[in-house]
Amino acid sequence: MAVTRFAPSPTGYLHIGGLRTALYSYLWARKTNGEFRLRIEDTDTQRNNDEAMKAILEAFNWVGLNYDGEVEYQSKRMEIYKKYIQQLLDEGKAYYCYMSKDELEALREEQMANKQTPRYDGRYRDFTGTPPSDIEPVVRIKAPLEGKITFVDGVKSIMNINCNEVDDFIIARSNGNPTYNFVVAIDDALMGITDVIRGDDHLTNTAKQIIIYEALGFDIPKFYHVPMINNPQGKKLSKRDGAMDVMEYKRQGYLPEALLNFLVRLGWSNKDQEIFSMEEMLELFDPSNINKSASSYNQEKLLWLNAHYIKNVSNDRLAKELEFFDCYLNGHDKKEMLLDLSKERAQTLVELKDAVNKIINRPTEYEVKGVKKFIKEDTPKFLDAYLKTLEEKKESLHLACDYEEITKPFIKEFELKFPQLFQPIRIALTGGTQAPSVYDIMAILGYNEVNLRVRTALD
Ligand code: GLU
Repeated sequence: MAVTRFAPSPTGYLHIGGLRTALYSYLWARKTNGEFRLRIEDTDTQRNNDEAMKAILEAFNWVGLNYDGEVEYQSKRMEIYKKYIQQLLDEGKAYYCYMSKDELEALREEQMANKQTPRYDGRYRDFTGTPPSDIEPVVRIKAPLEGKITFVDGVKSIMNINCNEVDDFIIARSNGNPTYNFVVAIDDALMGITDVIRGDDHLTNTAKQIIIYEALGFDIPKFYHVPMINNPQGKKLSKRDGAMDVMEYKRQGYLPEALLNFLVRLGWSNKDQEIFSMEEMLELFDPSNINKSASSYNQEKLLWLNAHYIKNVSNDRLAKELEFFDCYLNGHDKKEMLLDLSKERAQTLVELKDAVNKIINRPTEYEVKGVKKFIKEDTPKFLDAYLKTLEEKKESLHLACDYEEITKPFIKEFELKFPQLFQPIRIALTGGTQAPSVYDIMAILGYNEVNLRVRTALD
């Protein structure tokens, strides 16, 4: 039973890298009948922003990753952190450091001049003298002086960090506020997190967090550090490549199941399977199989998956999704036919909406190129004849095949080729030459509307 968490800092929108680690954490918790917790890391009050916090929750809601229990806000837990800082001070595992900014800077410069990595030199670690009265001290942890910090990362295998690479880092600032690594460790421990799944940009924090766990005698969770998502050129993913607000994917017409399916595969695989329902993800996902190397964002794949889900979710669902794009189909008597037809070619809900609107809205203009190419001198004559033929049978015209049955002999009789008839009708019905099967469109519109649109175009 894994207890996992997603712990965003609300300094910006939720982007897909974050959503991917959230998804992995969610899947692992649900799969093992554990718990998936949400924690907002908002101690850095200057950089936090309410809008971003709302956007994160909204995005979670959109993709349907439901979390357990209450959302924890770090900003409301300050007293807890301070209590643990005091405990470490009392136990002699942490100490006040009175080094001034200038002293710290001088040390840094000296180390840099000697080509050493700047690190605190521990000068107050065993200090027993009288503290300088003009300095508000920070609190530093007593990090181990020798040996190694070793942990097994579920993705990257055994990690060894030499203790001489980690100094006595600050756990509380001079204003008493705890620092990032300290609060993360305290929260993960107190929230009973057993499995930490996060981006590998946090790998260097893990050693520090382990020092805190050990100082407080907490159980150390399992860690899974997930490699980054790169753009197709192997560089850091930029906004233009897709590193945008998750809600932007909604605005661009992606279904949440397509996005989740896309994300689960960005960094994890199960043989060569590409399509994963939520049930399959839950059955098959295991963080130990997360890829060791960075993954590459592939827009084509996302579009392909989205097209797949658009074709496979119910029409009721599509109609509901289209409302977000101001396209209202509930109550439309040909809703099923309309969606069945329009979804065949749509890669996004925006394309689906456009395809639907093209059929249900009367054209306000006609594509010039198409008109030039397909409207010939004799076109009005046979279109008129065609409408008359339809009129005679209008009572029996319901399905696409009913129109087809009438049209075939008509074409023969007038010695026409299909495009000669269909392209002008397409233009008359939808304004352009790019539209699905004319029989289907006619069946959706019904004889009266077909007649009206073609007559209007002929005028
Ligand atoms: N708050 C961190 C972030 O947004 C994540 C911390 C963690 O997962 O441990 O990158």
